[in-house]
Amino acid sequence: MTANTSITLPRFPGRYVRSLLSFAAEGIPEIYQIFMKHIFGPVISRRLGHSLGIDLLADKICNLNCIYCEVGPTVKLTCERDFYVDPELIIAEIRQFCENPDSLKQVDVVTVTASGEPTLHSSLEQILAFLKEVTGKKVVVLTNGTTLSDQDVRRALRLADLVIPSLDSVLPRSFKKLNRPANCLDLNEIVEGIISFSREYPGELWLEILFVLGINDSEEDLQALLAVLLQILPDRIQLNTVARPPLEKYALPVSLETLKTVAELFSRAMPTVPVDILAGSGGAVEPVDSGQEEEMSLVSCPESGVLEKIVSMLKRRPCTAADINRIFQFGGSDKVEQYLEPLVRSGELELRSHGDKYYYH
Ligand code: SF4
Repeated sequence: MTANTSITLPRFPGRYVRSLLSFAAEGIPEIYQIFMKHIFGPVISRRLGHSLGIDLLADKICNLNCIYCEVGPTVKLTCERDFYVDPELIIAEIRQFCENPDSLKQVDVVTVTASGEPTLHSSLEQILAFLKEVTGKKVVVLTNGTTLSDQDVRRALRLADLVIPSLDSVLPRSFKKLNRPANCLDLNEIVEGIISFSREYPGELWLEILFVLGINDSEEDLQALLAVLLQILPDRIQLNTVARPPLEKYALPVSLETLKTVAELFSRAMPTVPVDILAGSGGAVEPVDSGQEEEMSLVSCPESGVLEKIVSMLKRRPCTAADINRIFQFGGSDKVEQYLEPLVRSGELELRSHGDKYYYH
């Protein structure tokens, strides 16, 4: 997944279930809790507009265990496609959301993602078809790109209007260090899958690449990646780096200058393909010109359900008090800190440092 995208009950499912039960005690209707489990947002994205997120998994099930993952360690490292979550549950939540015309009016696109890799859900095709039918919106899928050699996945993804796969490295050594794949994955097959998909897919294809300092940023890595990109020729390339607390502390961001150099290299070789820089660090962890940051702007913030919205968001992406304040308009980071302090004390949330900032997770 993108990495950004940054996703439900990832690390300590029981913990979050307890959280939800405590909300029930405070009188939040049961259906709202179900609704919150697989649907999040909408959030504002500069390129996508108002985006409603659909999370297809309840645990972090993935065929990778990327060192930069924001969700936490992969709890099930597998290549098996399966019905990890009852598709009827997800469909019921989508239907519930769509029943309210005011909610649907706020949405420009629907973005399918997961706590792990969404294409591992066997009902991907059914859910995408349902989303197209009931929302009438543009449907986007974020994927780590590893399953595009699978005909069933490719057929399902043809229902989407925009697919954004990741491809961080095409060199086995860097791929293993960075993405830590399940044994069942073969890098050549992954690359061939993305190339084939790019040739047959009628929709838009954007490719995201995340760079980690000293791992996939060498000249050799960049040239190998460029050779593959010339075969894929995506509609857009998005360059990213480690902007939030990663799974492994040694996953360090590359500088903004490095991202700019890479962007120039790719733009020179593919002048018709736009190259975006999603995050740059300059050695720290502050995103620059960050699509990611914009993704964090919430469209609406109803009075009720704020706490579970915050917890749901933090399960998908770690945020600072300033991020949370900007999204939920508490009137200051200090007020966010006060509000979340009991959850940190009780262990419901964690505070983790990254660079010179503290992130709730
Ligand atoms: S481990 Fe899976 S969910 Fe996490 S960043 Fe990698 S592909 Fe995405």
